[in-house]
Amino acid sequence: MWLVPPFITSIFFVLGVITLYWSIFNWITTKIESQSKPVNVKRVQAWVGALCSGAAIFALQLLVRDSHLSWTFMNFQLLILVFAAYFLQIRIPYWLIVIFGIGFMLINGNVDQPLSWFYTGVFALFYVESHVQSVHMWRWPFTRYMSLAMVNATILWIVVKIRLNLAWTTVGEELLNFAILAVLMYGYFKIQDKDRRIKDRLFQSANWDALTNVQNYAAYDRAIGYLFYHSVSQHRNLSMIMFDIDHFKHVNDTYGHLAGDEVLKGVAKTASAALKQIDPRIILYRNGGEEFNVLLPNYTMEQAQPIAQQIFDAVAKNQITYNDQTLEVTLSIGVSGLTVKDRNPLDFYKRVDANLYHSKQNGRMQITTA
Ligand code: GH3
Ligand code: MG
Ligand code: MG
Repeated sequence: MWLVPPFITSIFFVLGVITLYWSIFNWITTKIESQSKPVNVKRVQAWVGALCSGAAIFALQLLVRDSHLSWTFMNFQLLILVFAAYFLQIRIPYWLIVIFGIGFMLINGNVDQPLSWFYTGVFALFYVESHVQSVHMWRWPFTRYMSLAMVNATILWIVVKIRLNLAWTTVGEELLNFAILAVLMYGYFKIQDKDRRIKDRLFQSANWDALTNVQNYAAYDRAIGYLFYHSVSQHRNLSMIMFDIDHFKHVNDTYGHLAGDEVLKGVAKTASAALKQIDPRIILYRNGGEEFNVLLPNYTMEQAQPIAQQIFDAVAKNQITYNDQTLEVTLSIGVSGLTVKDRNPLDFYKRVDANLYHSKQNGRMQITTA
């Protein structure tokens, strides 16, 4: 006897799993972001999603596997499948789908029945179809989503009806419930996803420079704070490269402010491309005006020096064209590494800044490392 109808329980269960997923997902991504590390959203999504879905499907099935009610949570399992395949777009390798399917039949104790294999096959196919549909996002996504869900659910429910001798009314009721839950899930996920997109956009505009598309001073400030104390406590190396465009004011005064903007974009692009090739963990920041900073975790000053040279060369070689004019740009650079005497990030920063100043005073277009 059900005091609360299974349909109502399912609603809260499904929403509960999704909410649990979002909470864990947000917790992990915020944690990574606070350490100023790049977040691989797709990977976090896949792992957290697979974990929540897998646990939910298997845990529930364990509760009912030997009873005549082994079909009770079927709608729920179908929805979890849709959630992982369609909404999270988790691409599970085919061999893993086979292992999952066989594992599920073993838990249910029906691996010897051909109908179970057919059922599991349709279930797996449903997963693949949902994933493909979601990745391609053809026209009329909601109609397609519902059609695919209902066709597969109907086939699966008919199999269950045959195997367990259910009444047609039960199957009809369950399919209606499934349809309602599928619609609810679509709406709930879209709302949550929109929230996440807003959060991403806020994070993006707060930490990235709109002109040059590299990270900004706020991001630098957070990163140096984290990296400084992390490097000191873990006895890791840390280096910093700071560079400033030579006679930039001259570019603005001669060719105009827009030409100056092009130069800034060009320099940022050249420097980030060079760094990306060397080591993607090295991050470039625009700290203001025509001044840039590079943080190199785990690099000694001696290792950072040739990287500064590569940035220097790449920018010098790269000619920027603006209105058919060719602009040549050079940099003055300061480089230094963290020492035991640095008591806070500012001590470290001041030394790099002094080195940059030395390059400027000494005639520009050079690198000072000390
Ligand atoms: P130095 O070789 O000593 O570095 O001389 P400089 O002319 O490069 O340096 P200075 O600090 O005198 O001038 C920097 C100029 O950069 C002044 C400012 O108007 C300009 N600037 C700052 N931000 C931007 C920007 O976003 N776009 C453009 N076009 N100019 C900018
Ligand atoms: Mg300058
Ligand atoms: Mg300057």
